[in-house]
Amino acid sequence: MRAGSHVGNDIYLDYNATAPLRPEALDAMLPHLQGVGNASSTHAYGRSASEAVRTARQQMAHLIGCSPGEVVFTSGATEANNLALGSAESRRGATVTTAVEHPSVLVTAHAVAERSGGTVTLLTVDREGLTDPDELSAILRAREVSIVSVMAANNETGVLSDLIRFAEICCAAGVLLHTDATQIVGRLPINLADLGVDLLSLSAHKFGGPQGVGALFIRRDADVPLRPAVFGGGQEGGWRAGTLNVAGIVGAGAAAAVAAATMKAEARRVKRLRDRLEAAVLRSTPGVEVNGHQTKRLPGVSNLMFPGLPADAMLSAMPSIAASDGSACSAGAPGPSHVLTAMGRTRDEAECSIRFSIGYATTQQEIEHAIAAVSSAAQRVTVALRGETPTALAYS
Ligand code: PMP
Repeated sequence: MRAGSHVGNDIYLDYNATAPLRPEALDAMLPHLQGVGNASSTHAYGRSASEAVRTARQQMAHLIGCSPGEVVFTSGATEANNLALGSAESRRGATVTTAVEHPSVLVTAHAVAERSGGTVTLLTVDREGLTDPDELSAILRAREVSIVSVMAANNETGVLSDLIRFAEICCAAGVLLHTDATQIVGRLPINLADLGVDLLSLSAHKFGGPQGVGALFIRRDADVPLRPAVFGGGQEGGWRAGTLNVAGIVGAGAAAAVAAATMKAEARRVKRLRDRLEAAVLRSTPGVEVNGHQTKRLPGVSNLMFPGLPADAMLSAMPSIAASDGSACSAGAPGPSHVLTAMGRTRDEAECSIRFSIGYATTQQEIEHAIAAVSSAAQRVTVALRGETPTALAYS
């Protein structure tokens, strides 16, 4: 059992919503929460804060393979996505993104288009959640495009995009490429030195840093017009004014350093646990299907469709398991998942889907417990829906 993965007897299988804070991140943050120092001040306290931020910027840059000067710290990926898409506001042409993006890209793309009189074009996905770079090529041939934004890994299904190919196409067309890499950073290697993307968003809490800290990578030689969302003191190269969140940034850097050192082994371990969970659930519960491509997927994600068994009933029938019946960020939004319906799932199928997402602190023991809990929940919900058992009993 590892710190942060349990609340009482509950088992945390919702790493795509947020991961537990890594102990190394907490240790690194504490002195900055207890101490004082504005990273912009020139006295010793300020210099110590700015030195800590400098180290964190190096750690973050190392994790994604860029230079420290290309990292702008933000309050998270939402803000980074807003900055990235907002930078295209003064350009002519459509924003091209995918139908399965996180709301912080989709809603922003529409808001920017409304402000600038532009349009939004959505790339489709197939039944396995894969985007087709050729669809982008056809759009680029047909119309003027200001920016392309393609997520690196989907938050609901874990499905990966062919970013290398998207980058080649955008580079050849001379169009800016942004990627929302929130779910992949710290989980699978990403090296911006080799990958031709111009802008990349991340959030520290997805890989064991604190919530409320993220970053936008802006390629140094990319032609990205400066359009800050927050004006003020000119911090972060003018992209993001305001006193730096020193403790948060330090925690993000420490988590980035641990993730960089452990990621490859961790990804193999997490994938083994995910495969064990998935195989056991598919065996024990007839008809269950995986949402998303079998292999082109993040190692820790299993989005499963339990035909005829509504996700909310399933989750109530396994109260010890913390999993998700939609992405946490759109959990308040009515209606079925836009990601699963874009993949061709019906409304009913989407509403019978549960996302299990595991990570660095998940143990084999937790997975074994989860397997038993899911199988028992499926049996009890099936019986309850047939009306053979009073609902209250079935769901207890
Ligand atoms: N993009 C993706 C793909 C995400 O999964 C999330 C978080 N669920 C975000 C952006 C937004 O991150 P944050 O809430 O930390 O700003």
